[in-house]
Amino acid sequence: MQGIKIICSLLFLFPMASHAFDVTLKLKGFNQEQEQKIFKAIKLIKKVVLSPEFKEAVISKSFNNEFTYKDNAGLTNEEIYQKILEGRELVGRNTEANGIMDLELVLYRDDSSNTIGYTYPKISHVYINEKFLNKFEPYQVANNLFHEWLHKIGFDHSVEKTPEREHSVPYALGYIVKDIAKGISQDIAQL
Ligand SMILES: [Zn+2]
Repeated sequence: MQGIKIICSLLFLFPMASHAFDVTLKLKGFNQEQEQKIFKAIKLIKKVVLSPEFKEAVISKSFNNEFTYKDNAGLTNEEIYQKILEGRELVGRNTEANGIMDLELVLYRDDSSNTIGYTYPKISHVYINEKFLNKFEPYQVANNLFHEWLHKIGFDHSVEKTPEREHSVPYALGYIVKDIAKGISQDIAQL
């Protein structure tokens, strides 16, 4: 954790590079194996967000025959991409547009639920259900973490599972991250 904080402080000393994107992480309640899986998922997210494939996928997303998302917070696809790179959470330790994804994760377990993770607008942390974390591959965890973080920077979707919901920013971008991350994971496995 200390290492992450130092890197984070150093970044403030330099002007924002146009393609910087980093992650800070705060974990509560995770065992070592679960932590390692989270670390792998974060590595994948960083690689994905900085990839040209991600930029292309975010910008070319269509919904109802238009280049747009459902529940897009009034933003164009290009603006949504820029907002991701800004890394400006609405609540938390640092709400500057610093190019850093700040993630605070708290583990819980609910075996009777289909919820993978959740958060509320007023809190900075995200609850992660270990029922799913334990069986997910890192690229699937990356999907969930990115989805929840998109809530932290101001994107939302309907509570009801409507057919349109998967075109919302958190769902659609979570899937994009998952698909690209899966490809990266397979490339690494072949090395
Ligand atoms: Zn959500």
